[in-house]
Amino acid sequence: MTTVNNYINGEIVPPSTNEYLDIINPSDSTTLGKVAISNSTDVNAAVTAANNAFPKWSNMTVKSRAALMLKFHALVRKNANELSKLIVLENGKNMTEALADVAKGNETVEYACSLPQLMQGKIDRVSSEVTCRDRRDPLGVVVSIVPFNFPFMVPHWTLPIALVTGNTIVLKPSEKVPLTMWKVIELFEEAGFPKGVVNIVNGTKEAVESLIDHPLVKAVTFVGSSPVAKLVSDRCHSLNKRCTALGGAKNHLIALPDCDVKPTANDVVVSYAGCAGQRCMAASVLLIVGDKEGTQQKAILESVIDKAASIEPGTDSGKMGAVIDEQSYKKIISYIEQSEKEGAKILLDGRSWSSQQSGGNWIGPTIILHENKNDKAMKEEIFGPVLSVHFVNTWQEAIAIENNNPFGNAAAIYTSNGGHAEWFMKRVRASVSHSLSYTCLYDFF
Ligand code: NAD
Repeated sequence: MTTVNNYINGEIVPPSTNEYLDIINPSDSTTLGKVAISNSTDVNAAVTAANNAFPKWSNMTVKSRAALMLKFHALVRKNANELSKLIVLENGKNMTEALADVAKGNETVEYACSLPQLMQGKIDRVSSEVTCRDRRDPLGVVVSIVPFNFPFMVPHWTLPIALVTGNTIVLKPSEKVPLTMWKVIELFEEAGFPKGVVNIVNGTKEAVESLIDHPLVKAVTFVGSSPVAKLVSDRCHSLNKRCTALGGAKNHLIALPDCDVKPTANDVVVSYAGCAGQRCMAASVLLIVGDKEGTQQKAILESVIDKAASIEPGTDSGKMGAVIDEQSYKKIISYIEQSEKEGAKILLDGRSWSSQQSGGNWIGPTIILHENKNDKAMKEEIFGPVLSVHFVNTWQEAIAIENNNPFGNAAAIYTSNGGHAEWFMKRVRASVSHSLSYTCLYDFF
């Protein structure tokens, strides 16, 4: 049983509230430990520590900060297995997915190590005898607030870049998965990061609001659901603070009649059922273009169902893990039940999984066939292993459905014709959030 407190100025500090939440294993509902619930007093201590560390840290050369990050990168690789085991325990995803979580996060660390070459600034001759010097300066204390679904990767969209550019950090991990970053903090120490440069405050809403409101916090990065992203960005903007807030998703896949059936089906299932559908890039709606009684269209749907039905529950590689908690489980079930009420047909029903497992939040891959494109499950983020399928007669109809949904992280088109792919690429409106983390976050700091 681990007690996850706060990490402030290089010390482990219990929360002033003395309150904790249980950390629950999604696979079997056992308690793994407890995590601190912090308030404004704890936040003030962490932000003050980060602010005190800022002058010395920001005065170091970029290359000396990057050198520490390079050591950290090597330590992450060395500890990748241990970190991944923690991710499996607290998040419920399988081991291959957990290893990928660590490897993808470490890619941003690599990117940050190249910042000495990238952030040299430039000199523009803007008029005759007039030059402008473009220089990158750190902002100060940066706050990162992260979701449960990638316990290692998402915090590392912000931390390495903010740190190498000379900022100091207060991280607020998801209260559902605090163990991974609790281990990572040891690696920051081992790499030689000075005290106060990286701090962790655990908790929920109160911690987040206090962090945003703290006058010494200069910028906030948030990744999570859209309603909370809006709360965070509104609060930051009301205080004139820099903020980047990435929200939820509803990702559309469009299968054209000329697609190659087997690879299409494999890809659709890997996309919607990987990490039990708890990825902001997960497929959520499959639009099959053409006659629903057509041979090719029927083959696509049957292949997707066959592939999804072959998935087994578990956290070993190749299997599908449980969803994060009971609340999430109930939300996913409610979307399936609502779809039934709306007249949709459940082609593959994952609800049977919960009765086959002892404990945990298990729901198997589910496929719903919707006659009506306005069914709730077709439009809202479910964040579970549920695929909504809808037949459309034309490409234009498919594009209209994709374009009209208010979310948008990604869209994909399945076709064997490059011209068709090009046509869709120009018309889909989804954008890929991951490119944001690399390019925009560098511009952000
Ligand atoms: P969440 O919004 O519930 O929580 C995210 C963070 O906000 C957590 O640290 C949480 O403690 C905090 N929080 C929760 N409620 C709050 C409130 N009322 N006020 C202030 N802070 C609050 O998200 P989650 O369930 O942890 O993660 C899943 C969501 O994240 C999904 O919607 C998913 O699409 C999204 N996500 C998006 C991306 C992206 O790149 N766009 C990446 C990963 C996850």
